[in-house]
Amino acid sequence: MKYPSITAFHKSILNGEASFTETVNYYLSQIDVNKGLNAFVNVFAEDALARAAALDQQKLAGMPMGKLAGVVISIKDNICYKGHIATAGSKILEGYHSPFSATAVEKLVNEGAIIIGTTNCDQFGMGSMSTNSHYGPVRNGADPELIAGGSSGGAAVSVQMDMCMAALGSDTGGSIRQPAAFTDTIGFKPSYGAVSRYGLIAYGSSFDQIGTISNNYEDARTIFEIMAGSDEKDSTSIDIEKDAKTYAGRPKLAYVEEMFEGDQEWMQENRAFLESLRETCDLVKVDFHYMKYLVPCYYILTTAEASSNLSRFDGVRYGHRTASPSDLKDMYRESRSEGFGPEVKKRIMLGTFVLSEGYFDAYFTKALRVRRLIQNEVNQILEGNDGFILPISASAPWRLDQKIEDPTQIYMSDIYTVLANLTGNPSVTVKIPTEKYNSRTSNSVQLIVNRGADMSIFNLAEKIYKKY
Ligand code: GLN
Repeated sequence: MKYPSITAFHKSILNGEASFTETVNYYLSQIDVNKGLNAFVNVFAEDALARAAALDQQKLAGMPMGKLAGVVISIKDNICYKGHIATAGSKILEGYHSPFSATAVEKLVNEGAIIIGTTNCDQFGMGSMSTNSHYGPVRNGADPELIAGGSSGGAAVSVQMDMCMAALGSDTGGSIRQPAAFTDTIGFKPSYGAVSRYGLIAYGSSFDQIGTISNNYEDARTIFEIMAGSDEKDSTSIDIEKDAKTYAGRPKLAYVEEMFEGDQEWMQENRAFLESLRETCDLVKVDFHYMKYLVPCYYILTTAEASSNLSRFDGVRYGHRTASPSDLKDMYRESRSEGFGPEVKKRIMLGTFVLSEGYFDAYFTKALRVRRLIQNEVNQILEGNDGFILPISASAPWRLDQKIEDPTQIYMSDIYTVLANLTGNPSVTVKIPTEKYNSRTSNSVQLIVNRGADMSIFNLAEKIYKKY
C-alpha cells in the first residue's frame, strides 16, 4: 500500500518525498493493473491530473492547503460530481452528466480532494453482490472468482487494491458494510441524515446514506467530519453530536445470541471473536424480538420507495431513450424496459404492488409500524450499553458463478445489515483478525451506537479493534 493513511500521505507531501501529480499517477497505474476486477466504471484521469498539477503549483507558491489536499477518492457511480458521468450502474442513465455535485462531494473537493473516478455497483444500489450492474460484475481482489459483495463492491475493491486512498459508497441496507467485510476494508454507514443525500441518486430515501470505505478509522473519521452536517438541500439532514466519547474503562456491548448462531466456519469465527471480547469488554446478552421481520420489513419499504423514486426515469429527462417508439406511451414503456435491469424491474413491480390500493395498509402501513417497533427496541438495547455488536453476513463471500435460483435467499443474506438502516443508527465494521486473508478474504462484525453519536463510534470501534 502506498500510504497507510491520509496523515502519512500528507507527511510525505510536506517532506517533499512525494508530489500530488506522482501520487495521482500511482493510483492511475493501480487502476490500470487491476482493470480485470471491474471496480471502476469511469476514470477521470485527465481531470485528476489537472487538479494534482494545480495543487503542486499551490504548494510551490506556499499557498494554504485544504484538509484533504490531494487525497485521492473514488465515488460510487450513484453519486453526482458536476460535469461528470453518473449512471448508478444502469443503462437507463447512459451518458448522463450531472450538472451539479452532491453536497458530500462538493465538501470534499472544496478541501482539495481529488475524485479519481466512479466505481461499479449494483444498479441503483439494488443487490448484495455487485453482479446486477450494467457493466458486468465486480471481482474480489483477494480471489477474482469470488464476489466482492454489494452494492458498493467497486468502491470496496478500489480501496482493497489500493486504487485510491478512500471511497464514497452508499448504504441503504448494508451496501457499504458487507463489501467492506469481504475485502478487508473498513466500512462506515453514518446516522441517517448525518451526510446530506443531495446528489445521491435515490433508491430508498428514508434508508439511503452516503458513507466511507477506508483503510482505517482515522481516515473514515476525517472524511466523515468534512462531509457531515445539515444541508438546506436535504430536509432530512441533521447535525450530529460534535463531541466524541472516550472509552476509558470496559465498554458495555450488547449482543443477541441468536444472531451468532450457525455452523459455518464463517459464523464460528464471528462467535469466537465475540467471545474473545470478554477480555476487555462487558458483554451484555439482550433479547431482540423482530429478527424474522427485518428482511420483509426492509424489502416492503425500500421497494415502495424505489418504485416512486425511479418513476422519474422515463426516457424524457435523463439517459436512455428507445430508438423508434410508436407513440408517447410506447416511448416510456420501451425506454424503461430497455434501460432497467431485471432486479430493478422486479423491485419496481413489488414496490408498486405494496403501494397499490387495497394492499397499501396490509403491507406498506404495517411495515412502517413494524419499523417503529424495531427502532424502539434498538433504542432500548442501547440505553444502558455503549454499543450493540452483531454479524454482517451469515456466510463468507460466495463464488461469482454460484447459481442462486431463489431471490429471497439473497435478500435473506441482508438480515444483519438492514437493521441499522431501518433504525437510522450509525454502524461501522470491525475486522476479525484472521490469518486466512488473501487465501480466502476477510471477515468483520459491525458495531451500532445511538443515532447522532457517529463521532463516538470510531473511538469505540478502535478500542475493540486495538485489543489485537
Ligand atoms: N442488499 C441490499 C439491497 O439489495 C442493500 C443494498 C444497499 O445497501 N444499497 O437492497
